[in-house]
Amino acid sequence: MINKKKIEKLLIANRGEIACKIIKCAKNLGIPTVAIYSNEDANSLHVQLADEAVNIPGSLISETYMNSSAIINICKKYKANAIHPGYGLLSENAEFVKIVEKNKLIFIGPKSTIIKNMGEKDRAKLIMEKAGIPVIPGYHGENQDKNFLRKKANEIGYPVLIKARSGGGGRGMRVAHNKENFFSALEEASSEAKTNFNDKNILIEKYITKARHIEVQIFSDQHGNVVHFFDRDCTLQRRQQKIIEEAPSPKLSEDIRKFLGDLALNALRSIDYQGAGTIEFIADITGDLNKNKIYFMEMNTRIQVEHPVTEKITSTNLIEWQIKIANGLTLPKSQNEIYLNGWSIEARLYAEDINKNFLPQSGFLHHLKFPKISDHPNCIIDTGSKKGDFISPYYDPMIAKIISHGKNRKEAINHLRNCLFDIEVGGITTNLNLLKKLLRNNHFREGDIYTKFVENNIEQFMDKDIEPQFKALASLIIFNNLTPSQQNYWFNWKPTTYPINITIGHKVTSFFITRTGNKNFEVTFNNQDFYFSSVSLHDSTLKAKSKNKNFEIKFCVIKDKSTGNKIFTIFSDENTFAAVLKNSLTQVSVEQYKFEDSIFAPMHGIIKINNLKIKNRVKKGDVLLKLEAMKMEYSLIAPRDGIIKEIFCKNGEQVTENSKLLNLEKIK
Ligand code: ADP
Ligand code: ADP
Ligand code: MG
Repeated sequence: MINKKKIEKLLIANRGEIACKIIKCAKNLGIPTVAIYSNEDANSLHVQLADEAVNIPGSLISETYMNSSAIINICKKYKANAIHPGYGLLSENAEFVKIVEKNKLIFIGPKSTIIKNMGEKDRAKLIMEKAGIPVIPGYHGENQDKNFLRKKANEIGYPVLIKARSGGGGRGMRVAHNKENFFSALEEASSEAKTNFNDKNILIEKYITKARHIEVQIFSDQHGNVVHFFDRDCTLQRRQQKIIEEAPSPKLSEDIRKFLGDLALNALRSIDYQGAGTIEFIADITGDLNKNKIYFMEMNTRIQVEHPVTEKITSTNLIEWQIKIANGLTLPKSQNEIYLNGWSIEARLYAEDINKNFLPQSGFLHHLKFPKISDHPNCIIDTGSKKGDFISPYYDPMIAKIISHGKNRKEAINHLRNCLFDIEVGGITTNLNLLKKLLRNNHFREGDIYTKFVENNIEQFMDKDIEPQFKALASLIIFNNLTPSQQNYWFNWKPTTYPINITIGHKVTSFFITRTGNKNFEVTFNNQDFYFSSVSLHDSTLKAKSKNKNFEIKFCVIKDKSTGNKIFTIFSDENTFAAVLKNSLTQVSVEQYKFEDSIFAPMHGIIKINNLKIKNRVKKGDVLLKLEAMKMEYSLIAPRDGIIKEIFCKNGEQVTENSKLLNLEKIK
């Protein structure tokens, strides 16, 4: 049935960069917009951009951005007759879309029945198999008996991947390497699936040890027309989630490119689809990349995070296409009008700590500086964040997407790398150094990558020891900050050296600074001496000379209100680092926790306590508490055997980073 109704006002059921982009596109099309926002997001960019914005009280996603009834009520009250769900959140929630349909509102996406069929990975595979599309070998039937499943796994051959059928965002997946660890992997996968997706059913797939993730963007209108927008490569991942994506996919012959496009269209024709979608394929690249080892993996019935790389190389605006198609128009272009132009790469800037197994970070974006786009005309930055925003544990920690376009792959990589060098984030740890390193990496530059490339080579991407020269420069920056009127300082007190204790990467080092001339300084630490001349400080840049080399170091300073510590972020190429000047009053208590038997919150998050009581005896490695943040669950484990002495938090409580959660007593 063709939707006769036109979009009069659009509600955006999302937040962050995608909400901002949808609002801008609707504006271009002359459609008024309504934003929704949680309590945490009251000052967000998407709220400022929309024509109207309505608060849904609460912080949790379930009570705000995924609160179906509140969203429908807002549509009615504000006379919005259409909903754009963005990605994540309600975008693939068939139940929600059913309610939207019942209320005769326009959902920007396919019908609820299609979402239901393609949303469950086992069903989707069955449908694709019937349509003659090769699917990853495995078991995707109904029987969930664990002995039966193990028998199936034995038949498939180890290693196998146990996957939540309702999973997404890389969650609910475990590899079973052999018959012996099958049950424990099954248990872990289905319990994660139950917690996250409220559905513990799983499917089993042959685990492809050396794989590339290649996907095809597709579109169809309400009149049966279908097109594809060629391929994207999303092979660079960490924990099954994308970090850098590009289009087109590198090292793909024209033959395979056409093969994938045709497969995607066949898949699309086998279902009654409308709107934007992505068919994700996995290619087994052991040996080589060939057609016989490319399989359908899943379909995402929504716009994807990485859609801008496709927009760049096909000169289209996919969000505008979505809106037009939901309005009943035919596809704006036919297949032969869609052609590739150059290369595009996207990097996702996340608040996460590479050195702590990609642990998501939450906290204030005290300092955030994006370069002027006029300085980087070949790049765009899609973001919903601004300086001063709080990266909350309730939501996805993505800060921005930086997208480049070049005539060829090399150019696109270089444009993106140059743009990343001009981004400054301070106050929160991000993956920016990793992104810069990846774009310089020879394997990446050669297109020689597989899905586990980052994790298997993590050592080389982790923050290395900072070069001593940069530490010495950091100490000069801190010294300057501490003694703003330097002339007086040296004149009145005539000290020989000025000692400062600075914490860099959890290690405290004593620096001794001596002024040896008007603009000359000597810095000594760890028995090494550094001499700097022509030292000057303007705004947030320190200039100095050492051994005929000129240094120009940018930095920012933040005072952490809770500890009184001063955090200096030193921006230096791929080794941006934080140098912390601890507040002398809190130094002791902060240092203490390494030695004391306490558990501290590694990040802001929500506590989950299950049956833990004072006087409980615990063993080293026992899971004592869980911390839920950014929709992931972290286990906090006992550092040694002991007895629970005190518990400082409650189930469901929100705790801040570094707050003490419990004390453990030695067993006497
Ligand atoms: P893709 O869209 O390429 O499949 P992901 O699977 O990473 O990439 O994207 C979907 C994920 O995006 C969701 O599972 C969710 O964690 C996250 N997400 C949802 N809403 C937002 C948002 N507004 N900003 C950033 N990330 C979000
Ligand atoms: P999600 O819904 O979480 O995106 P996918 O099925 O798309 O789940 O898989 C996410 C990622 O997990 C893929 O991009 C790939 O890196 C990895 N993966 C999925 N299935 C397999 C498999 N059978 N073998 C190896 N890796 C896989
Ligand atoms: Mg996927």
